[in-house]
Amino acid sequence: MGLKKFIVNLAPSPLVKLFAGPYVAGDSIQAATDTSRKFWEERRVCSTIDLLGEELESDDDVQYTVGVYERLISGLGSQEYATISLKPTQLGSHRGTEHCLKIIEGIVTQAEKQDIKVTLDMEDHPYTDMTLDIFRALIKDHPTFGTVLQSRLFRTDEDVKSLKGLNARIRICIGIYNEPKDIALQNMPEMKKKMLEQIEVLFKEGHYPEIATHDEAVINESINIAERLKMKKDQYEVQMLMGVPKQNFQDELVRNGILVRLYVPFAEKWKFATAYCKRRLAANPAMAAYILKNLLYKTVGKR
Ligand SMILES: Cc1cc2nc3c(=O)[nH]c(=O)nc-3n(C[C@H](O)[C@H](O)[C@H](O)COP(=O)(O)OP(=O)(O)OC[C@H]3O[C@@H](n4cnc5c(N)ncnc54)[C@H](O)[C@@H]3O)c2cc1C
Repeated sequence: MGLKKFIVNLAPSPLVKLFAGPYVAGDSIQAATDTSRKFWEERRVCSTIDLLGEELESDDDVQYTVGVYERLISGLGSQEYATISLKPTQLGSHRGTEHCLKIIEGIVTQAEKQDIKVTLDMEDHPYTDMTLDIFRALIKDHPTFGTVLQSRLFRTDEDVKSLKGLNARIRICIGIYNEPKDIALQNMPEMKKKMLEQIEVLFKEGHYPEIATHDEAVINESINIAERLKMKKDQYEVQMLMGVPKQNFQDELVRNGILVRLYVPFAEKWKFATAYCKRRLAANPAMAAYILKNLLYKTVGKR
């Protein structure tokens, strides 16, 4: 475990909640849909709304999650700016691929009726095959269904090849999970170089790459690749996480005619949000120092 992650893991839940505020839309469907509408109305920035939660192993929790997605889809209604994102491990993966697939297909079918696109997030490596199996099975009847590939995994070049012909929405990112060195790159510049190579292949094979990164150099280079390949601006998009301070850059992309989409997570129950928030805090360069300072202050203050 990296030092930053270690420090973030020491933080008590209320401190995580406090610092993670900017990364989360709120604690209700209303908060998420309001945030999403505001991004669109004020900045012409699109969003993908995600109910936080992962590694659920109780059927009741999964049923609850399905219910929230159903209410979210009804609440969103037909509109042009928001999609939704979801994860296999919040939707029945604990009972196997077929079970999970059926649950996800129910949500995708309901969303489709309102022209809402759904993206299946990619979790850590034990779930890569399951996620891609579900994706391949569902895209046949649900052509707007999308998924995610992680450039850090050695297998991703092959996974890109295996999606040839699907003309799919593929979010491409380096991957947030620390993966073992026998299956994944460990060096950030190498992951980003690989991501650019894979973006080029995705373009060439007719996919719609969703370039998910906050690295402005990677985004600018992706746009160069798109222009070199004579892609139109509606053949890809750039995605970032809400809360990461990149507003000026995002607005500049929008002014240049590029679709920008923010990941807008929410949670009705805080216990389902903690893991995501800790990952976001660990990725924030300043956060480990803030948290450490705060913990030390509390410890010293108690003496
Ligand atoms: C829309 C979206 C969806 C994603 N979906 C998935 C997914 O399904 N599966 C998955 O494994 N990963 C996902 N990720 C995470 C992604 O894989 C990366 O881990 C994450 O985006 C950080 O890498 P980066 O490319 O932005 O580069 P970095 O080098 O980490 O960041 C570039 C710049 O942004 C700043 N920055 C990055 N994160 C933060 C932060 N939290 N707070 C403040 N500044 C920050 C950095 O300091 C740096 O200056 C997603 C990312 C995005 C944007």
